[in-house]
Amino acid sequence: MTAPPPDPCTACPPLGALAGQAFDVAVVGAGINGTAIARDAALRGLRVLLVDKGDIASGTSSRSARMIHGGLRYLEHGDVSLVREFLRERATLLRLAPHLVRTHDLIIPFYAHFRHRPWQVRLGLTVLDVLAVLGRCSIGRHRSLSRERVRERVPGLNPDGLTGACLMPDGYADHGERLCIENVLAAARAGASVATYTSVEDLRTENGAVVGLSLFDSTAQRSLDVRTTVTVNVAGPWVDRVVRTLTPSRRLIGGTKGSFLVLDPFPGAPRDPCFYESHSDHRQVVALPWNGRVLIGTTDVRYDGDPGDAIVTPEERDYLLGETNRTFPDARLSAASVRFAYAGVRPLPYHPEGAEGSVTRRYIVFDHAPEVGGLLSIVGGKFSTFRSLAEEATDAVFRKLGRRPPRCPTTRAPLPGAETDDFPAFRDRFRSSAPVAPKSADRLLSIYGTRSDRVLEMAAAADSDLLQPFDEHTGAIGAEILVAFRHEFARTLGDVLIGRTLVGYDSVFDPASAANAAQIAARHLGWDDARCQSELDSWERHVLRFQPPAATPPDPASPAGNPEAP
Ligand SMILES: Cc1cc2nc3c(=O)[nH]c(=O)nc-3n(C[C@H](O)[C@H](O)[C@H](O)COP(=O)(O)OP(=O)(O)OC[C@H]3O[C@@H](n4cnc5c(N)ncnc54)[C@H](O)[C@@H]3O)c2cc1C
Repeated sequence: MTAPPPDPCTACPPLGALAGQAFDVAVVGAGINGTAIARDAALRGLRVLLVDKGDIASGTSSRSARMIHGGLRYLEHGDVSLVREFLRERATLLRLAPHLVRTHDLIIPFYAHFRHRPWQVRLGLTVLDVLAVLGRCSIGRHRSLSRERVRERVPGLNPDGLTGACLMPDGYADHGERLCIENVLAAARAGASVATYTSVEDLRTENGAVVGLSLFDSTAQRSLDVRTTVTVNVAGPWVDRVVRTLTPSRRLIGGTKGSFLVLDPFPGAPRDPCFYESHSDHRQVVALPWNGRVLIGTTDVRYDGDPGDAIVTPEERDYLLGETNRTFPDARLSAASVRFAYAGVRPLPYHPEGAEGSVTRRYIVFDHAPEVGGLLSIVGGKFSTFRSLAEEATDAVFRKLGRRPPRCPTTRAPLPGAETDDFPAFRDRFRSSAPVAPKSADRLLSIYGTRSDRVLEMAAAADSDLLQPFDEHTGAIGAEILVAFRHEFARTLGDVLIGRTLVGYDSVFDPASAANAAQIAARHLGWDDARCQSELDSWERHVLRFQPPAATPPDPASPAGNPEAP
């Protein structure tokens, strides 16, 4: 394999240089889907601009459960082609991003009161197995577990009414946000321009077609215009807002809010992810081991407000805690058990009628022509299928440009952290030779993959002190901060602590780690005292978003508030 291309230099984003430039395609939104489209389009030779009003992955893409799943629940809707796509994409991501996507065993326990009968679940899993084998994308078959075996594997499960379980191999991205970062790196290496903290204020039209964007760079506090032949609006739950001046009466998105609680491991907490039906409304709830903690979710509530304002309500918290206490009775969780919480809005197709869970999870590449030319909007699109969505959207961009789409390279091109013929061999070599503690070496591998070498080179070129951890919880090393600012488009301390190194989550926003990171930026990036203080102040404000809802005594009359209720 030839040497991977250098990472882009992102220390001084050339925002001013964008003014007046012309692009083949402007991608609005740097979530998982926008970053994937930017990567695909740039790899296929288009002149690409990717813009986001905030950081990369600052929208719904950092609010997900991070499951790269096989689409079991879509079988219920009889959508076999969608399930096939999920299975295929899961296997593709395991192959092309082995540092970020791993397999895990999902346990689905059976209780007598569940709406889904065990035979129905087993039948669904068998169909999934067969589809995966036929599609040559199997990652292993499901297994049935007897009541005794499931109690051995997950001793904390409530034994009352437990009849057995199924175990299903599935995909998981602990640091899903890094998939967005790697998409952007690949796009930038292939020539794409990237502008974060730059919002699309308006779409400029001529003769009924979008021909440019009016942008506002919130860091420099300046406006600029760019020209583009095609615009892809992939702003997730903000899609309708981006096009509101052009199509004020059309509604494409009907968002639903989903919330998660993050807890310390509790008595009886599962070591494997568990998917179970809630007692109160038969929805699926998941308890997922995540970076040494447990993620509990999720809810599904119609949401029409600004997606950026979505928060976990006390009712959602009580619902999730109540369901967890019923399923893991030794847990005895209360509002005080929640370390932090977050909510996101699913960018689902608008569907005014019916239950939230019944809305299709299929994505739509919506062409606004003939109403408006030069404009595509992406409606829906799960995390798991970002690559195939990007392929379809980029094909559509080529057609709008009047060109035949060249072959899509992303089914074979590894992401930047997987550019080696033999990832396990790279991992073994790195583990045995990296001049950092084993905890730091493992962490580097699970975040940067083969780019871990470049993180170490950064320390070697600057200061060997940068090999030392700045965050004791994770072992994250100082050089990562420099890599984030110089090569990964970070603009703020928050970008580094949440979107790049992810130590914010892992350390539950430990202020000491933030202060250490600011000191490293002061020493190596020239931040003065005022910059350090303002970054730390904004970090403190940012962290408030993750505060759990205020603890209120649970209402014993409500099923979600009374864990002991039958
Ligand atoms: C609670 C929850 C759990 C989930 N769990 C899973 C899961 O386990 N597996 C899975 O596959 N999927 C999951 N999903 C779904 C998945 O997370 C989303 O479908 C996916 O992240 C959507 O990505 P996106 O890129 O389309 O949108 P987003 O990530 O929201 O990106 C849109 C971007 O557009 C930007 N933007 C908005 N307006 C403007 C503007 N005017 N100018 C410039 N930029 C703008 C925003 O800042 C944002 O970064 C979950 C979703 C939720 C809510």
